[in-house]
Amino acid sequence: MHPQQERNDAQTRDLCERVRGFVDDIAIPAESPAIARDVAALDERIAGLRVQARQAGLYAPQLPAEQGGLGLGWRALALVLEEAGRGFLGPAALNCAAPDQPNMLTLLRLGTPAQQERFLAPLVRGEQRACFAMTEPAPGAGSDPSMLRTRAERRGQRWVLNGHKQFISGGVGADFALVLAQTDVGATLFVVPAATPGYRVVRDIGMVTVYQIGGHAEILLEDCEVGEDAVLGEPGRGLEYAQIRLEPARLSHCMRYIGRARRALETAQAYVAGRESFGSRLADLQQIQAMVADSHIDLHASRLMTLDCAGRMDDGLPVKQHSAMTKVFVSEAVNRVADRAVQMMGASGLSEDTPVSMIWQEMRPFRIYDGANELHRATLARRLLARA
Ligand SMILES: Cc1cc2nc3c(=O)[nH]c(=O)nc-3n(C[C@H](O)[C@H](O)[C@H](O)COP(=O)(O)OP(=O)(O)OC[C@H]3O[C@@H](n4cnc5c(N)ncnc54)[C@H](O)[C@@H]3O)c2cc1C
Repeated sequence: MHPQQERNDAQTRDLCERVRGFVDDIAIPAESPAIARDVAALDERIAGLRVQARQAGLYAPQLPAEQGGLGLGWRALALVLEEAGRGFLGPAALNCAAPDQPNMLTLLRLGTPAQQERFLAPLVRGEQRACFAMTEPAPGAGSDPSMLRTRAERRGQRWVLNGHKQFISGGVGADFALVLAQTDVGATLFVVPAATPGYRVVRDIGMVTVYQIGGHAEILLEDCEVGEDAVLGEPGRGLEYAQIRLEPARLSHCMRYIGRARRALETAQAYVAGRESFGSRLADLQQIQAMVADSHIDLHASRLMTLDCAGRMDDGLPVKQHSAMTKVFVSEAVNRVADRAVQMMGASGLSEDTPVSMIWQEMRPFRIYDGANELHRATLARRLLARA
């Protein structure tokens, strides 16, 4: 092994251990089912955790050092996010949770210096929150982003946005939104402050997820007027930018959820080791053992696929196909792991006395967002068959 690589691996291992300690000692004890769907209480709890994450030197592992982050590459980040992801609040405490982790990367990549100063800097400091608004009710954009109905019209030096967005994670209480809207030159990405007249959060849509900062909002844009400086990147390239944002975003979800599913499995293992049925420990029953083994196989395969894709990103290689395959496999594998954990624990696995039921609920949507798995399978097959 190259000496530099060895040193980096040792540093990454050390960082992972420190993140694990932070999650076990600070982030997990801060969890409480009573605040799992309370947007304001979550914001307050996370603000406190961020102070502690900063003091521990664990804050913003995904950002370059110049931005106040730890400057990790994607492979190292995969291991760190897995550890952070064991806790429901771990990623947010480190300010590397969705949707702001990919929002920060988008602003870093596309933002002008002025946009970065105004929008990126407060996200990095953890003073503001943002959301990414693409999905719309029918007949607007869902799985097919080209069905975008939200429109932005030129009015002199200004843009006027009208549209309807739904299921926007983090939208309740977000300070600004990255909004995808149709223009005469094609889909364009705008950065819209929530205080802009005409921007309205209609409601927090009740969702199966838990501990989601800012819930999942329905948002209306009614004659919402912004300046030319609200355009991110170049007009007409919005769909391309959304894809660029999605690739690392979905891979980061894989990283965090491998950690979360691992926690469900750890909890179930502790349960079956201590519970008896008809004179034997559950852990000694072959059907239980098979569930434990299959879950470890699922997690191991998920980790390897994620690390492989992360390595390609570190090497600057294209990951369109790899990130799609990884997302499909990992989202289904972590669902299997969480479901088996519930089964191994009987009623306890469905109660709020352990984290398992909430992990199981939280995993389900991952087969739908970041591109529904059916869509990824269809696209992958088309591309692979065209080559054949
Ligand atoms: C928890 C959660 C958080 C979300 N956060 C955000 C967010 O922050 N911002 C945002 O913009 N959106 C967000 N979304 C929305 C998400 O991106 C969409 O749900 C997703 O793109 C699918 O769109 P849809 O729900 O309209 O499903 P539809 O497009 O109506 O599709 C329904 C189902 O049909 C199937 N299907 C669709 N197209 C095909 C196809 N071509 N081939 C085969 N099967 C197909 C799939 O099984 C799919 O699940 C979130 C969703 C959830 C559940």
